[in-house]
Amino acid sequence: MKFIRKNGLMIGIFPAAEVVAPQLELLTTTRTGGLSRGAFESLNLGSSTGDKDVERNIQLLLETLGKKRENIARANQVHGAEVATIEKGGTYEGVDALVTTEKNLTLVINTADCYPVIVYSPSERALAAIHAGSKGSYRGIIDNSIATLMRRFQIDLSNTLAFIGPGICKKCYSVDSKLASRFEGRYISKKKGVMKLDIEQFIFDKLISLGIKRYNVYRPGLCTSCNPELFYSYRRDRGVTGRHWTMATITEAW
Ligand SMILES: [Zn+2]
Repeated sequence: MKFIRKNGLMIGIFPAAEVVAPQLELLTTTRTGGLSRGAFESLNLGSSTGDKDVERNIQLLLETLGKKRENIARANQVHGAEVATIEKGGTYEGVDALVTTEKNLTLVINTADCYPVIVYSPSERALAAIHAGSKGSYRGIIDNSIATLMRRFQIDLSNTLAFIGPGICKKCYSVDSKLASRFEGRYISKKKGVMKLDIEQFIFDKLISLGIKRYNVYRPGLCTSCNPELFYSYRRDRGVTGRHWTMATITEAW
């Protein structure tokens, strides 16, 4: 992942996406350049965090990127496995993935440790933005998103691309035995009685098992918890923290 500065904000881009899918615009915000203070410093975009500056941060981001509010689609995420296929902006309740083929509609996933995963079929021009935390992942959010893309838009898995955004790494993600028991042993490490989960590897393996080719999965391996200057981390910050947006748009440019 590469970072660019725009109007004081620092925005993460996937250089590979620009090469393999020039019509796909894929951005991840960092915490830099917003108005929030204290634990939320500074570009907090999480509407459920109780931070009074979130709305102003959202406005600042959209102005900086030249995007209109009505073209923004957000999932009101619940760590579940429901997918919404959509054609216009707004907030979609109770879903953890959004799917579209609409041009200039920006799909937004908001995270602070969970992984944002973007799946895109360049031949069918179909896009999914997925909130893939541990709970949603074992409940089947990735499976359901790919199934929706296949059923609704007949995507060709042999050229479908996947991008895994920033999330918590296997060294930072301590889990309790109940959550650990949901995953195969190869995703769990144990040191001095502390169990850790490699959810990024689980997500990668899941994408491959569903038919996406290894060489079409891009995984920068950026940890939200290891990089406090760039990212919020729900676990590192003990629950009081902001959220980033990962934004995916099919553009006209191709
Ligand atoms: Zn880490």
